[in-house]
Amino acid sequence: MQHQALYVAGVWQDTAERWTVSDKWTGTELGTVSVATKQHATAAVDAAEDAMRKGLPPYARARILADVSRLVEEHADELASLITAELGKPITASRAEVARAVVTARLSAEEAGRLPGETVPLDAVEAGGGTFAFTVPCPRGIVAAITPFNFPLNLVLHKVGPALAAGCAVVLKPSEHAPLTAGLMVRLFERAGLPAGWLNLVTGPPSEIVDAWLHDDRVAVVSFTGSSAVGWRLKSQSPRKLHVLELGSNTAMVVAADADLDRAVPDATTAALSGSGQACVSLQRVYVERPVADRFISALVRSFADADYGDPRDERTVVGPLVNRDAAERLLNWMTAAEQAGARLAVGGDVTDRLLAPTVLVDVPRDSPLLCEEAFGPVVSVIVVDSVAQAIDEVNATGYGLNTAIYTRSLATSLEYAKKAQAGSVLVNMPPSFRADHMPYGGVKGSGQGREGVKYAIADLLQEKLVVLRP
Ligand code: NAD
Repeated sequence: MQHQALYVAGVWQDTAERWTVSDKWTGTELGTVSVATKQHATAAVDAAEDAMRKGLPPYARARILADVSRLVEEHADELASLITAELGKPITASRAEVARAVVTARLSAEEAGRLPGETVPLDAVEAGGGTFAFTVPCPRGIVAAITPFNFPLNLVLHKVGPALAAGCAVVLKPSEHAPLTAGLMVRLFERAGLPAGWLNLVTGPPSEIVDAWLHDDRVAVVSFTGSSAVGWRLKSQSPRKLHVLELGSNTAMVVAADADLDRAVPDATTAALSGSGQACVSLQRVYVERPVADRFISALVRSFADADYGDPRDERTVVGPLVNRDAAERLLNWMTAAEQAGARLAVGGDVTDRLLAPTVLVDVPRDSPLLCEEAFGPVVSVIVVDSVAQAIDEVNATGYGLNTAIYTRSLATSLEYAKKAQAGSVLVNMPPSFRADHMPYGGVKGSGQGREGVKYAIADLLQEKLVVLRP
């Protein structure tokens, strides 16, 4: 049992009210967190402002981020166990997340040492004759980082790492479902010697805390990862701030008639089930061309039937519990409605409390929420199509667009798909859930705006200042 206070201005501060955090599998109490008020949220901005006024040179930021990378590696087992406990994420997936977090921190340290600027040839016009001009990369300002539950370490580092690399102080509100991992990460920053105010951790009621930041002119950037509904609402409430929005999706994959099914089936399984299907790029829709549909579906069904689900601490478990009962019930309702409208349940469908068996449905009606909304669970809908062209139309017939994939042996089909698919990333013969932490990553349409992937996140957090000299 641990208690986690707020971390503001370099001090751990307790509050009168506390929330309990429970193990998502056993239900036992893991700890408590302090519950902040609006005043605490504003005090965090005061601290961030003070830190930025004092400044911290890039070499110091780089050194601290490199130390954090090392500390995350040293605490890998503790972090992975905590993620599995407070989230129910299968332990192998938690370890993979920690390994990625080590890289995200290291990449941030590296980028802190190469913030871009350029010389500007003002003397290309007569009025600039005799001048020398260059741009200086300036931190845009305080970053409000609001993070989701599903990657409670790496997605937090994807905000904090680039912000500190760019010289922006951070006020952080992690998900109420998984605040302890963020707290442990903050302690590692503290141990690495991050001076007071550069990173402030505020836990508590989301709308109250975030509202204080949206209405505070000192906060320049809202960096939000979470559901589309919340992300776009935050932007509409504070349109003058820069909003980086990494939102939801209903990821699709196309299996062309010439696909290598020995790659497509295991990749589809991984993309759909890893992290219990609770990733923004979890595979949710598969459009398979008719000539290979039967073979693909029966192999996918076998693969899903073989996937272990249950206790997230079991090394073999692929699918653990969902974040809460509501998520499992919502999916059960969507599946039942789809079946009533003509879909066929090919495997899975069982729900026990918050655990949902890996599930494949076939011939799901086009207007089903299983296709149109974000499922965020271990459920895949397979649709048989007559051509890749039809598949492309169906992939694009949605309000989302994050990652998408096609399996084909044809270069021409790959390029056609890459050109026409409405998505932030197109993967060819690779699972649509693929993400490396330095690739430009983000969505189109309802899936967001702006890009993460350390260097690309930093670009949004910098503002060029032009300096013109006439010696
Ligand atoms: P969520 O939108 O419920 O919560 C995200 C964050 O917003 C949390 O910190 C939460 O406390 C806060 N929040 C919730 N309501 C709020 C409000 N009214 N005002 C201010 N803040 C509020 O999302 P979630 O359930 O934690 O995460 C799952 C979602 O995140 C999915 O839609 C998933 O696709 C998305 N996601 C996207 C990416 C990406 O990179 N595109 C990555 C991971 C998760």
